[in-house]
Amino acid sequence: MLINFFRQLLSWIYFEYCYLCKKPSYNGAVCTECHNKLTQNTIAPVKIINNTPVYASGFYNEDTRKLIKALKYYNKKQLSLSIAVFMNELWQQTPHSKEHFCIIPMPLHKKRKKQRGYDHVLLMAKEFARLNNYEVDNKLITRVKDTKPQYELTKEERKENLTGAFKFNEHLYKGQNLLLMDDILTSGASMEELIKTIKIFEVDDICAIVGAESVLKK
Ligand SMILES: [Zn+2]
Repeated sequence: MLINFFRQLLSWIYFEYCYLCKKPSYNGAVCTECHNKLTQNTIAPVKIINNTPVYASGFYNEDTRKLIKALKYYNKKQLSLSIAVFMNELWQQTPHSKEHFCIIPMPLHKKRKKQRGYDHVLLMAKEFARLNNYEVDNKLITRVKDTKPQYELTKEERKENLTGAFKFNEHLYKGQNLLLMDDILTSGASMEELIKTIKIFEVDDICAIVGAESVLKK
């Protein structure tokens, strides 16, 4: 709460330039005008996987693509807060209790993290957690298989590629409600495998949220 207040105060003293329109922004890395133009999705889940609702905050269009790509590949870490704020706007409208969620960012294989230098979904999760007073746990589920990029594969190969990709470290589970998080939902195959891995275990409430839903559903 106090951190958010100081951030707001600092953003008024030291403005940034908006990543999208390049004009001065007093609202962090994305100005209020551009933020308001990001198209929000409906609050209904875009997918239900194994009884787990998956929410998508927006659509994967020109603006969300720019933001997510810049955060993922071009080291624009400050965009993680802008994306988290956008995701939180949808989250607040969903029918979940909003209390005591533990966020699980889509696990990244350690080899990939080493290549990129950081885990962008973890950064988004940390900002989202700060906004809601949640915890982030990136140890509960680990990626044990270094999978090939999904877009290189056929539908059948995708499933095969992801089978057994994740490991639920049961001994670390503290009985929390889990909110799974990813940047984009395309075919949903990774999310499906992640949910299946967790569903073997008894978890009270589990749901998932992504920054944007890609229209290129294959
Ligand atoms: Zn702008």
